[in-house]
Amino acid sequence: MILKELISNLALLIASLFVYSQSTQAMPLSRSSTLKAKIVSGFLAGILANVLMQYSMHFDNTIVDLRHIPVILVAYYGGAVPALASMFLVIIGRFFIGFNTSSLLALFLIVSITLLTLTITRLNMSKRVKIFLILTSSNIMFTILIVYLLQSVSTLTVLIPSFWIISYMAGFVSFYVIEFLRRSQNLLNKYKAEAATDGLTGLNNVRKFDQSFNKIAAQAVHKEEKLSLLYIDIDHFKKVNDTYGHKEGDQVLIELSRILSNTVRSFDIVSRNGGEEFTVILLDCPTERARDISERIREKVENHSFLLTTGQMIHVTVSIGLACYNETTSEPKLLIKEADHALYDAKQTGRNKVCISPGYKWASHRA
Ligand code: GH3
Ligand code: MG
Ligand code: MG
Repeated sequence: MILKELISNLALLIASLFVYSQSTQAMPLSRSSTLKAKIVSGFLAGILANVLMQYSMHFDNTIVDLRHIPVILVAYYGGAVPALASMFLVIIGRFFIGFNTSSLLALFLIVSITLLTLTITRLNMSKRVKIFLILTSSNIMFTILIVYLLQSVSTLTVLIPSFWIISYMAGFVSFYVIEFLRRSQNLLNKYKAEAATDGLTGLNNVRKFDQSFNKIAAQAVHKEEKLSLLYIDIDHFKKVNDTYGHKEGDQVLIELSRILSNTVRSFDIVSRNGGEEFTVILLDCPTERARDISERIREKVENHSFLLTTGQMIHVTVSIGLACYNETTSEPKLLIKEADHALYDAKQTGRNKVCISPGYKWASHRA
């Protein structure tokens, strides 16, 4: 019978933790969470504790439950605010069940467990030791109070060891589930970010560029905004590699990526689309403005001394192709092709220059 009750309690606890962790995966509860997030977590933990009270486990004529576990969890992860919120809900819930000596002792128990958890959480120890101390101290508090309340040796000899085992089991399982879910989520977030990032420069990679471009192009049509795209390619980069080596070429790519990021506006999207080819998506930006930005990039690169790992300084230039929806093209889909063609024109007509896709009043702009 007790085994059945224990299993349903653990199942309830784990299922709730799973649902809660999934719903807060972007921002798990921590001491730096917003006040609102802390209060909501405390409130939810209080509700779970009250539900667990309804699933209490029976020993002779005594009942025990796992109401303290949700309070411990929010106190450990979120600090005083969610701990106190859940603690008050537990106290209120317990008084609804009945107001007597054992409810007063239950009040004392939950208050002391909350305060002990908050204190131990702040100690400078490993996670494991803290969790062990928190669960042990709450078991000790329970033992002291139940001995005071019951005084029946035969019941106590069964109840106390059983409670210690159940409480440890539920506590360790809960912490394990939360830590496991948080670790998995962190890894998933890390892999997602890595899958979208160029390993050398830290810019968006071509996959992320495609995703962003499709989304932004659709938004530009919807909001009736202009959207410019720059294709940027280093001139005679092969020579840099041939002269100084591939490693030094990489150094130039890293430095160029910094120049690009620092020259465009913070909300523009800079990507390395492959090799020595970069793109910038300029949001809500007409051709004329995009041309100014392109010129600024071109000049900055031309005037920049690229520092190699050998201490040598070298100079490189870039060619830039520009296309703009809905000035050089009426179809956002064609921006990529048009900007690429404009880049080709820049390469064909001398390099170190900005070329605008035909269809606009400035066919090209020479450096
Ligand atoms: P152009 O002015 O016509 O663009 O000439 P280019 O030499 O820059 O163009 P080309 O396409 O002939 O050569 C591109 C070079 O870029 C060849 C390749 O060695 C180099 N490259 C591509 N990816 C990387 C990279 O990740 N690191 C380094 N160091 N070089 C790269
Ligand atoms: Mg090149
Ligand atoms: Mg190229």
